[in-house]
Amino acid sequence: MDKSMVDQVLAAAASVLASGAISANGHGNVSLRVPGAEEMYFTSASSLKGLTPDGIARVALDGTLLEGNLPPIQGAVVDMHTAMYQDDPQVGCVLHTHSPYATAHAVAHQPIDCWIEALAMFGLPDGVPLAAYGPRGSAQAVANIRRAVRPGVPAVLLANHGVLIFHRTPELAIFVGGVVEEAAQASLNARALGGPVVIPAELRAAALQRAMTFEAAGVRTA
Ligand SMILES: [Zn+2]
Repeated sequence: MDKSMVDQVLAAAASVLASGAISANGHGNVSLRVPGAEEMYFTSASSLKGLTPDGIARVALDGTLLEGNLPPIQGAVVDMHTAMYQDDPQVGCVLHTHSPYATAHAVAHQPIDCWIEALAMFGLPDGVPLAAYGPRGSAQAVANIRRAVRPGVPAVLLANHGVLIFHRTPELAIFVGGVVEEAAQASLNARALGGPVVIPAELRAAALQRAMTFEAAGVRTA
């Protein structure tokens, strides 16, 4: 086991917990691609809370366990992670949680639309798609995820289950996980006030353009 990879997974798991975009029991898994190899490091513990190096496994992208332990419950969802690495060489981190508000939408079969600007700015201008239900991690569930995800989209709701995020780095994946949860929470609160309103498509494009202009200008100092 490579200590640096293990440390990166432990740090990512701690950041997911600190982000708050996770259910109270801390259930979820984080994986990181091993650069230059067809492998990932994967959290095989049942919760991200109290994760230790013993709760991390090294797994080939064909699903073969290379090092560590893989209990049945966690082993069942390995394919959901490996599929994201196989499909997009840019993906460096996959994150799965049952963050409560996003999961509420997944359970209600309600995709998250572009209700807040941050979704448009971080690769989700058309909102977060919903993958149809299949037993967790099954070939059917993975096929449903692949059917729902379009190129460049970094998140998908898993019907009757939770949310899956995949991005270049753990920082970006965890950030998107927080944005998705924030949009989902705002949507549920807005339902008491007449319901959430989608940002018009041309303004979503304008929001992204404006953010990119400020990004290109860098940090301004007085
Ligand atoms: Zn799950």
